Amino acid sequence: MMARLSLKAAISAALLASLSGCATSDKAAVPSWKPDTTYNLTILHTNDHHGRFWNNKYGEYGMAARKTLIDRLRADAEKQGSAVLLLSGGDINTGVPESDLQDAEPDFKGMTQIGYDAMALGNHEFDNPLSVLEKQMNWADFPMLSANIYDKKTGKRKFQAYEIFERNGLKIAVIGLTTEDTAKLGNPEFISGLDFRDPKAEAAKVIAELKENEKPDVVIAATHMGHYVDGQRGINAPGDVALARYLPEGDLDMVVGGHSQEPVCMEGRNLLKKGFKPGDECQPDNQNGTWIVQAYEWGKYVGKADFTFRNGELNLVSYDLIPVNLKKKVKINGEKKRVFIQEEIPQDPSLKAFLQPYQEKGQGELSKKIAETDGKLEGDRHVVRFQQTNLGRMIAAAHKERAKADFAVMNSGGVRDSIEGGDVTYKDVLTVQPFGNMVTYTDMSGKEVLDYLNVVATKPVDSGAYAQFYGISMVVEGDKVSDVKIGGNALDLDKTYRFTVPSYNAAGGDGYPKLNKHPGNVNTGFVDAEVLKEFSRKIARLM
Ligand SMILES: [Zn+2]
Repeated sequence: MMARLSLKAAISAALLASLSGCATSDKAAVPSWKPDTTYNLTILHTNDHHGRFWNNKYGEYGMAARKTLIDRLRADAEKQGSAVLLLSGGDINTGVPESDLQDAEPDFKGMTQIGYDAMALGNHEFDNPLSVLEKQMNWADFPMLSANIYDKKTGKRKFQAYEIFERNGLKIAVIGLTTEDTAKLGNPEFISGLDFRDPKAEAAKVIAELKENEKPDVVIAATHMGHYVDGQRGINAPGDVALARYLPEGDLDMVVGGHSQEPVCMEGRNLLKKGFKPGDECQPDNQNGTWIVQAYEWGKYVGKADFTFRNGELNLVSYDLIPVNLKKKVKINGEKKRVFIQEEIPQDPSLKAFLQPYQEKGQGELSKKIAETDGKLEGDRHVVRFQQTNLGRMIAAAHKERAKADFAVMNSGGVRDSIEGGDVTYKDVLTVQPFGNMVTYTDMSGKEVLDYLNVVATKPVDSGAYAQFYGISMVVEGDKVSDVKIGGNALDLDKTYRFTVPSYNAAGGDGYPKLNKHPGNVNTGFVDAEVLKEFSRKIARLM
């Protein structure tokens, strides 16, 4: 009986007990479940929403259709007497201008209307000043959890660590955890006062606390740490697999994850299912008795895990990743068309009506002046692929500044248009950079930099590979560079330099050396157009 009380109530009950001289301890709490009774539990989940409150131009995903789907799943589950929790693995912020320009207000309010119960704080929740995050916490009527972020000044947890849910006679604890990499991925201006501690150790602490005080029947971690197959995490901070293996078996029932932005569907033990397609069956990962799930990104899927709970044992009955109006390309009468993979999910009319003004306002914002220029910023392909131009170098300068790098490399194929003299809008910026590539940076030695430049700086003109540079100068002759100067100083082969390159090229695009496996490479997650927009807005007069 005691276990059904909230912590506060339990403490006051204990106080009463001691006042009345009763010797009963509140620590003798018993589980809330009844023996030989089967409880059903359904966990619905999404992650890495990244500003996708509206459907894309093909009518895929979007929160209005997501709501219809979740309402249906919830109704079905409740009809079968199942308790339902809807969780998010975080990263609601950053990725779509219409959302970014409004501090993700439609996204957090939309999540509230859909009925999310809790979310993990992701690294992109720290792209904005903490005052924005505070505002977002008010827009959300569900807790945004993280147990491992501490305030450097007070030495205390900065955010709510966990939430307890009592549903249909089951007591479920949800703990929030955030990748330690937030320390290097978040905007340094805003996170200098925060300490991102080891989420594995913090999880162990919280679980010990919960066992003592709350005695939950089920413990779930909503995490934003990434799923790395067999714990092979490369240069990333430890993810969900490491977490599950670190904790004693039986301490953590489930991880609802995010950050690596993939469908976590396994083919065998520590073997990811290759080529997962919407509508395919999905078997989540299991490590050390902990189920690990993740629903790709952007609300493309809603994950659904059905459990039974009996005599203290939780068993997964079924799991599904349900596509939200995803399409595939087919040929109909020789013409390529996009068709729904599964039956179309209608958009929830009230949520759509609620979101519509935000979409319109966001698009209106795109047409507002952010800067001005006296002359043309040159991005015509017949120029930018042949020589250094003011616009090509400005984009590189914007990347250099955002990543606090020593120099920047920008492929001219990523510069898609010019900006004419006069007022400059975000729409102009998006015309120049429509692909949504992200800024990556790499720390490497001067020796490695020289090898890299010998490939990249010698790419032929009249190709998208021809590079625009900022913060660096050199002489290019044939297939060799010489007289390299970075920030005006001669290249030191033993020094470590940081430089940026778009994610497309870091992945080997344009025949650039692959950097995304280099130990010093970091994808900042910042989208190129947003970076150029902010850079332009700060300078105001571009030339
Ligand atoms: Zn992330």
